[in-house]
Amino acid sequence: MALTPLKNLLHHALQEHYAVGAFTTFNMEYTRGLVETAEENQSPIIIMFGTVETDYAGMERLCSIILQEINWSKVPIGLHFDHGNSYEIVIKAITSGFNSVMFDGSHLPYEENVDITREIVRVAHAVDIAVEAELGLVGGTEGETGIEEPNTETAGLTDPDQALDFVKKTGVDALAVAIGTAHGLYRRKPTIDIDRLIAIRKKVSVPLVLHGGSDTPEDKLLSSIDHGIAKININSDLKAAFTRSLRSSLSNAPDDIAFEKHLSQATKAMKRVLQQKMELFRSSGKALGLLTHSF
Ligand SMILES: [Zn+2]
Repeated sequence: MALTPLKNLLHHALQEHYAVGAFTTFNMEYTRGLVETAEENQSPIIIMFGTVETDYAGMERLCSIILQEINWSKVPIGLHFDHGNSYEIVIKAITSGFNSVMFDGSHLPYEENVDITREIVRVAHAVDIAVEAELGLVGGTEGETGIEEPNTETAGLTDPDQALDFVKKTGVDALAVAIGTAHGLYRRKPTIDIDRLIAIRKKVSVPLVLHGGSDTPEDKLLSSIDHGIAKININSDLKAAFTRSLRSSLSNAPDDIAFEKHLSQATKAMKRVLQQKMELFRSSGKALGLLTHSF
């Protein structure tokens, strides 16, 4: 199947009150695990990677592996570049095969974030690529464990009025908001500011994105879906299941050098967690409705 536009994925999710999971991949086995689970659960998904995985596998090489798997798949899938931190890397992503890109200028002064995001939107839209941007600071680092302090300082959270101004000035297709989640795994329970999300939703109509979805209380994730979150990014929860299984498989059979067997076990462990995410996000069973919907 051809790539499904981000706009279709997220607008269907908003209409049908579910969220599309965006899951980070880094190699062929992991990508196959994502696609297989999406097919088994008839769920739309977004496959994504960012600079860490680009450094590991190469942007074009990893894109071509994922695009092949998507071509062979039977469910709607988008391919998203996550957390591009410069104009240059996002343009590279646009030419490498992604059909949506994120520019993360949240670390920049506000006006600079607006200017670069607006320019990226102009270029991306000329070639039918969707753009996600971030306003406010989502703490932590992808894959990090034991985050002591989730982002609970109001100063780092997304301001609803600024979100409206940002969306108007840039024309982004989706907006990542900071409402208290952080990337990685928490050591302390995070405080998720659902009231802030409701206030943002009242101001802006573009689909909203939640980063740092791993290890976040399920009731908060469900509540965020009810209030406009249409895409939830997950990396650490799947990576943890994969890595723990691989570790135990290798230590249980230290003399077994059939590495493909160890990898298959690890992929299966990841798929079980992935299936739970699809059920939680209520995206299971939505593939057909999305495919037959007229946009
Ligand atoms: Zn993120």
